[in-house]
Amino acid sequence: MADLGSGATNPRSLDLPHGRLRFPVFLPDATQGVVRALDSLDLRACGIEAVQTNVFHLMQKPGSATIKALGGLHKMLDWHGPIVTDSGGFQAYSLIHENPRYGTLTQRGMLFRPEGSDRRLQLTPEKSVQLQVDYGADVVVCLDDCTHVDAPLTQQQEAVARTVAWARRGKAEFERRIEQRHIAAGQRPILLAVVQGGDRRDLRKRCAEELLEIGFDGFGLGGWPLDAQGRLLLEMIAYTRELIPARWPMHALGIGQPANVVACAALGYDLFDSTMPTRDARHGRLCVFNGPASASALDGEWFSHLYIADEKHIRSGAPLSEVCDCLCCSHYSRAYLHHLFKIKDSLYFRLATLHNLRFMTQLMARLRNE
Ligand SMILES: [Zn+2]
Repeated sequence: MADLGSGATNPRSLDLPHGRLRFPVFLPDATQGVVRALDSLDLRACGIEAVQTNVFHLMQKPGSATIKALGGLHKMLDWHGPIVTDSGGFQAYSLIHENPRYGTLTQRGMLFRPEGSDRRLQLTPEKSVQLQVDYGADVVVCLDDCTHVDAPLTQQQEAVARTVAWARRGKAEFERRIEQRHIAAGQRPILLAVVQGGDRRDLRKRCAEELLEIGFDGFGLGGWPLDAQGRLLLEMIAYTRELIPARWPMHALGIGQPANVVACAALGYDLFDSTMPTRDARHGRLCVFNGPASASALDGEWFSHLYIADEKHIRSGAPLSEVCDCLCCSHYSRAYLHHLFKIKDSLYFRLATLHNLRFMTQLMARLRNE
């Protein structure tokens, strides 16, 4: 079993086959094998330590045979740091729970038809783990059954029972695969299981206890983390972290809104991933600190959104942020970025994405008191 590099003391860290993660850490989503608009040198330049991909998407495009032929994800992406592969549980939830015509969920696993295709693909807990190990992931995530917090009780109960059963099968397959492939101790990925249970304390507790009994290297916060008004379900998120002893790292899956990251880091969550910073950048919404990035206060109005399409930037010679050292802020004005956004040039997507990711890595450094 992997344990946190420095126990429960600060700073917390975790050693993985492709490097050490210092917590808290933010991982941009390379869902389909790319952090859109950036390559691995760009990611390094803005301080990204690890990326998160998704087996549900990768097995469809470019396909597992292609990834294996290219020598695994690290070679394909030319990324030398850690890679987390998400299992696809959340994507199955989005696709199948919301649109049953796209597939079915059974005790065995899920059968789905990719959009725009007649093919049928099967993803079982075993297959999900096999593919993640074969892709060369540093952090493998067990397939889980995700539900919405508003789902009926019976559905929540079923999701917890299935998540635990699938995690048990996932772990057995993980150990088999590691042995089969003769993966040495230092090269062994770690295995996370996801805690489901919606907004019900009894179900979260049952799920956490049963997963702890099976034994994993870390845990993930499952389920949709926001209420109908888009507010973080803070009480449930805090309770779920309390259920898992502090020595195990915990991944706040899908959480990336800056204020939400700060709130969850304070509760003891270690890893974060989200498409939000990169998607926001592409849509012209950029994050800027309201004061020096190294200042300690992260409450109140500590950051703002800058909308680059706004006409007030047309002639602005100022950088996006005075306290950002990214490629964009070091060399280019708001006016130039506004122009690139208006003509939809690919350089805009690169510079804006670099900036928003640098904002996230500066935020993480601040949370680590660096
Ligand atoms: Zn910047």
